[in-house]
Amino acid sequence: MNLATTSLRQLAQALQARQISSRELAEAYLGRIARLDPGLGSFITIDRERTLRQADAADARIASGTAGPLTGIPIAHKDIFCAQGWLTTCGSKMLSNFVSPYDAHVIEQFEAAGALILGKTNMDEFAMGSSTETSFYGRVKNPWDPTKVPGGSSGGSAAAVAARLAPAATATDTGGSIRQPAALCGISGIKPTYGLVSRYGMIAFASSLDQGGVVAPSAEDLGIVLNTMAGFDARDSTSIARPAEDYTAQLDKPLQGLRIGLPREFFGGGVSADVERAIEAALQEYERLGATRVEISLPNTALSVPVYYVLAPAEASSNLSRFDGVRYGWRASRYEDLGDMYERSRAEGFGAEVKRRILTGTYVLSRGYYDAYYLQAQRVRRLIVNDFKSAFAQCDVIMGPSTPSVAFGFGEKTSDPVQMYLSDIFTISVNLAGLPGLSIPAGFGEGGLPVGLQIIGDYFSEARLLNVAHRYQQATDWHARVPALANV
Ligand code: GLN
Repeated sequence: MNLATTSLRQLAQALQARQISSRELAEAYLGRIARLDPGLGSFITIDRERTLRQADAADARIASGTAGPLTGIPIAHKDIFCAQGWLTTCGSKMLSNFVSPYDAHVIEQFEAAGALILGKTNMDEFAMGSSTETSFYGRVKNPWDPTKVPGGSSGGSAAAVAARLAPAATATDTGGSIRQPAALCGISGIKPTYGLVSRYGMIAFASSLDQGGVVAPSAEDLGIVLNTMAGFDARDSTSIARPAEDYTAQLDKPLQGLRIGLPREFFGGGVSADVERAIEAALQEYERLGATRVEISLPNTALSVPVYYVLAPAEASSNLSRFDGVRYGWRASRYEDLGDMYERSRAEGFGAEVKRRILTGTYVLSRGYYDAYYLQAQRVRRLIVNDFKSAFAQCDVIMGPSTPSVAFGFGEKTSDPVQMYLSDIFTISVNLAGLPGLSIPAGFGEGGLPVGLQIIGDYFSEARLLNVAHRYQQATDWHARVPALANV
């Protein structure tokens, strides 16, 4: 079986038909990881024996006739999801010794479905970044060009799927960390509506923005995985109780009459010419599929990055205060007293970007600045939500580029944090509004690097978004292209 060209759905069929066992499948993926990942760095932890034990259990379940669609399928998990007995680092030295004593809700759901944990993927430290250059475990290379970044913060998950080291991987998106790396690595990725996937056991960065999701080659595969990931969980107070939905049910629905909103602010200035060309070609494909274009406006788009960089650090400074060297994580080996122990442990355990966020966040929440920054940002956040509300009165989905350019080179943006922050200009407002968004491959730009098309929908329109993506993927084959190194 050629894992570079076999989709998750086909793997599931082969398992059910006993053409391959889960153990054989797991061994094949572990073999690919052993061969290819030393050059990519997409995994932090692999535990072969543990994965193979799960595979044997899955094979027994398949034999007993009680298997579901993900039984026996290996899934890679971003190292932000706590998995019992697994090292769970969040890409940080702070958690470099943390073996989780419990499972995240997402992990529980996969365990119940009989999926295997293939390994834990590399990421920007505490999910702060757009290039996976801030990980304590080293940077991840883009499988299309090892001199380029894979995007971030879920760069490990995206690179692993792009190189077909895993059929799918979990990821999280606070300001773009699913859609941006999916775009730069030429794969599909969905960030669901805020509240659809439980945040329990997903290490918190900015709680009002964080949302778990998935990356995979195709929209169909995203739907299959999302069926298992989504669901109410009482331990997350923002988890939403809704009846279970089959995200693959509408995949084939024709797109006749679909109104595509094109925000004026997502086109023109700030988008590189190669990306613009690929997006225009994708829009023409959608017109052939029966869709029409509607010009819309999201007037506060330019404010989304500044608003995010007040709110996300504010929430992060509070969330990260739990890392004090006492209960878990890194503790300095030498200190004078308790206060000194806190200081040294945090100084040694956190990297530069995390410290920058904690400082900014503490500042905007401090007395005297709270009204001017934090409160004002909350007000503008509401305006951004309202922008989307009026937009969805005129169109069914919104489309545009996922990123302003194709993958950039290592070190290109590390010396200027603001340049790095701007790589999320098209994705961040979606998190501020809590809407679902996805990115799918839509051709190639400069240097033969992938371009991502972003599709944004109204609340809980995941099934529709996947339908819109799937129809395009039936008419094109960008999602089936793999980087040369994966063709082994
Ligand atoms: N790049 C953004 C940041 O650095 C978003 C990260 C994310 O979505 N986790 O905060």
